[in-house]
Amino acid sequence: MDKTSSAEKPIRPYTPEGIRQDEKHARKVARVADQLRNRRSTAPLSRQKRVVSHQVPKVHDKKHTDEKVNLLDFDEVIEIDVDRRICIAEPGVPFCKLVDKTLAVGLVPIVVPELKTITIGGAVAGCSIESMSFQHGGFHDTCLEYEIITASGDVLTCTPGNDHALIFQMMHGSFGTVGILSRLVFRLIPAKRYVHITHEKHTSIDSYLESIRSHYERKDVEFMDGIIHSNTQLTLCVGDFVDEAPYTNRYDWLKVYYQSTAKRSEDYFETPHYFFRYDQGVTNVHPKSFLGRLLLGKFLGSSEILRIAEKARWLLLNDERPDVTVDTFLPFSRLKEFLLWYEKDFGHFPLWCVPYRRVHDYEWLADGFWKGFDDELMVDIAIYGMRQKGDTNYYRLMETKLQELHGIKTLISYNYYPEEEFWQIFNRPNFDKVKAITDPNNIFRNLYEKTCRASMGQ
Ligand SMILES: Cc1cc2nc3c(=O)[nH]c(=O)nc-3n(C[C@H](O)[C@H](O)[C@H](O)COP(=O)(O)OP(=O)(O)OC[C@H]3O[C@@H](n4cnc5c(N)ncnc54)[C@H](O)[C@@H]3O)c2cc1C
Repeated sequence: MDKTSSAEKPIRPYTPEGIRQDEKHARKVARVADQLRNRRSTAPLSRQKRVVSHQVPKVHDKKHTDEKVNLLDFDEVIEIDVDRRICIAEPGVPFCKLVDKTLAVGLVPIVVPELKTITIGGAVAGCSIESMSFQHGGFHDTCLEYEIITASGDVLTCTPGNDHALIFQMMHGSFGTVGILSRLVFRLIPAKRYVHITHEKHTSIDSYLESIRSHYERKDVEFMDGIIHSNTQLTLCVGDFVDEAPYTNRYDWLKVYYQSTAKRSEDYFETPHYFFRYDQGVTNVHPKSFLGRLLLGKFLGSSEILRIAEKARWLLLNDERPDVTVDTFLPFSRLKEFLLWYEKDFGHFPLWCVPYRRVHDYEWLADGFWKGFDDELMVDIAIYGMRQKGDTNYYRLMETKLQELHGIKTLISYNYYPEEEFWQIFNRPNFDKVKAITDPNNIFRNLYEKTCRASMGQ
């Protein structure tokens, strides 16, 4: 797809009402900043956004009853600078809308999480990843600047090089505890119309790991992720943007992408259909049966399923014995040990596997965490929708095993860490430094209170 010439580039477009996008944004920021400045209460505050949240829904999550700050209208792309390959957008923009807008000028975000309605703000605060992460890290690592509204209504511009560098870095993985992200500036890359993927089949963990390492070192592909159907049936999906395609597939109704990786040797997609190939659920697809998908599949993407679970949580969910949905990050050198242990103690497959480059030693993790290993490459192993068996708390089992392997789990679901243990993994001194500036009264809660206590109704 040709890059649009600079004469056509949509810089600072006007809204249908004739207002410049950046002015419209400034009015929204002023409204929220006023609300915070004039707020007398120090009771916890949660965000209200337009699209559904991709945190695992929990019956007793305190966010349902907290007072809200209204961010419903923070969902616009403010500017796409085609020449500099930079986009400025509000945090509530979902990736499907962003890809639509950027692809129209031949560009795409560098890291596009696989579910259509993950938002760019949520991707930063909740650590989103995808198949370009083996080169670029997370979406946060492609960001250049954040505008942040503090709990007292101050508006800060934070970059990796200015006085607010630590706030910039700590917004990643903060799960909303550091302040309100109100605008992001991030990089884009050129895209082509199609994506071609090869499904490499491996029958041993060793050969799978060797192939990941080799692609990572040779940089001979643009995309890399995989589905581990079992420890003897592992598929690595590698590929590139291409200009031509002999056919294309899409996986948003009857066909299920992760299943196709066991059968097909290659595949072609229109670029947006590649990005959102897992939108019906990565390895935990709903509806599960062919008949169910035939009747309902067209109407049930990941957002609709999460919305139903959120609304009917009292009926559908069980906070006592929740299914296991969790992303783990491990040093690549410990992956074999992890998979052998996992097969014995969990035994739930398939797993989603996303190699992830250690582009930056994130400040929100404790110093001791990074000192524990030398790997340049990490890997995200995602377990989605495993029923817990017997009396074992599989979340806690994972938390303890990961510490032995120098891994972490993301905080999107159920977390059982004792507080002292939690702060050996996450960087309390850095959170305290940043919160002293952005949220001294703790109205956004601290990371432990929010993800290990309030989310579980405590
Ligand atoms: C079933 C399931 C499947 C998933 N699959 C994938 C996947 O395929 N790829 C992937 O990369 N990730 C996946 N994730 C994880 C997902 O990327 C993260 O949960 C991400 O944070 C979701 O973003 P969201 O836009 O839904 O944000 P939300 O869930 O709404 O928010 C995430 C966190 O960010 C905070 N936040 C949101 N907006 C702001 C803001 N403006 N300012 C400050 N804080 C804010 C919220 O308070 C919250 O703590 C999955 C999660 C689930 C539950």
